[in-house]
Amino acid sequence: MFDKIVIANRGEIALRILRACRELGIKTVAVHSDADRDLKHVRLADESVCIGPAASADSYLNIPAIISAAEVTDAEAIHPGYGFLSENADFSEKVSLSGFTFIGPKAETIRIMGDKIAAKKAMLAAGIPCVPGDGRPLTDDANANIKMAQAIAYPVIIKAAGGGGGRGMRVVHTEAALLNAISLTKAEAGAAFGNDTLYMEKFLEDPRHIEFQVLADSHGNAIHLGERDCSMQRRHQKVVEEAPAPGLTDEQRKRMGEQCAKACIDLGYLGAGTFEFLYENGEFFFIEMNTRVQVEHPVTEMITGFDIVKEQLRIAAGEPLSKTQDQITFTGHAIECRLNAEDAKTFMPSPGVIQQFHMPGGPGIRCETHIYNGYKVPPYYDSMIGKLIAHGEDRASAIARMKTALSEMVIDGIKTNIQLQVDIMADSAFATGGQNIHYLEKKLGLS
Ligand code: ADP
Repeated sequence: MFDKIVIANRGEIALRILRACRELGIKTVAVHSDADRDLKHVRLADESVCIGPAASADSYLNIPAIISAAEVTDAEAIHPGYGFLSENADFSEKVSLSGFTFIGPKAETIRIMGDKIAAKKAMLAAGIPCVPGDGRPLTDDANANIKMAQAIAYPVIIKAAGGGGGRGMRVVHTEAALLNAISLTKAEAGAAFGNDTLYMEKFLEDPRHIEFQVLADSHGNAIHLGERDCSMQRRHQKVVEEAPAPGLTDEQRKRMGEQCAKACIDLGYLGAGTFEFLYENGEFFFIEMNTRVQVEHPVTEMITGFDIVKEQLRIAAGEPLSKTQDQITFTGHAIECRLNAEDAKTFMPSPGVIQQFHMPGGPGIRCETHIYNGYKVPPYYDSMIGKLIAHGEDRASAIARMKTALSEMVIDGIKTNIQLQVDIMADSAFATGGQNIHYLEKKLGLS
């Protein structure tokens, strides 16, 4: 096992990684921006290094500064968390070339999954069901594009190979709009991602978002930890996640989960990853693979009792997976509410000083947050300030526990989305379960 690692992230995930390291006896180096000296994990880490000014581009995205921090502290590995450099293949490569272990998949795997066309090709080859459409790059041949859309059948979606964060795609409902949509998306993709390669696939109108958690080691083993339903979204951002997905059968879970685990072996995958699918009319359609730990990993941990972050560390250190598929069991139901510092109506970020913070508790409640009384939420980063997770013997009891926990939670001094989460937990359609990805925006009157 490693003696010391660098945590190249901030906020709740940096604290989560620090806790996993402490349990495993690994020393930690917190690298932080000028604005983040007071972060909880910076105070708790064995060592800390300031890697630049507040702007992410100069600190959390500053590859040479992070690698130098590993060098000066004699660390052996770097955990990228999520966001920032976690899915940056060049970073992973530079970390390895500098003699450190990148806690995540190989650079080539990250590179394939970062290109939607390459990822779809790899998934089709591994037998993972994908959205209808051959996934080949569009050419300038207008007739060929019209024929392709006819073959797929409208509505279709034009997507940029290099797109991300919900950008670089356009839905087309009629043939009259097709060619114009292709040229607009091409121009936008070229400007935004420096890559104007596009592809076309079927646009699924009312899908749910269901994703499978996988773990693969360097000894050729891979397992899945079941799925999460992340359909409660606003502007492509997940707001509530849960595991298991309501209504999914054990047989569906086993079949898709095993296919994902097998695909990891085919891909030479290493570490923790997530296969994201759109799920419509009982069928799964792959959309992307995330090659890192995800914000919503705790719901899976709650129902499996498995520590995904510790396992990432073990895998990176060359150890085999600590459990076989047969040893994975699923118990009860878990729900996660993301806590954001934002205005309830406009969703604008709401930085500022936390005047009072009371963390809820009780059976089945887990709170992952870096905030504390007097902590100043800086304006420079993502507005997520924590996550509240409730586990119960079934979905109804998880919701009941979440309601109680939300009612106990106090975060004063800044605006938060706690009331939105209270409203979602009280919503009768949410209580039924299995709503599609448009449900929340419709409820909020946003679409
Ligand atoms: P990104 O990397 O930008 O997040 P994704 O491919 O994961 O891109 O797609 C983001 C979101 O766009 C999905 O969660 C879904 O809501 C929507 N989307 C993408 N592809 C399709 C599709 N074929 N049909 C319907 N919605 C889609």
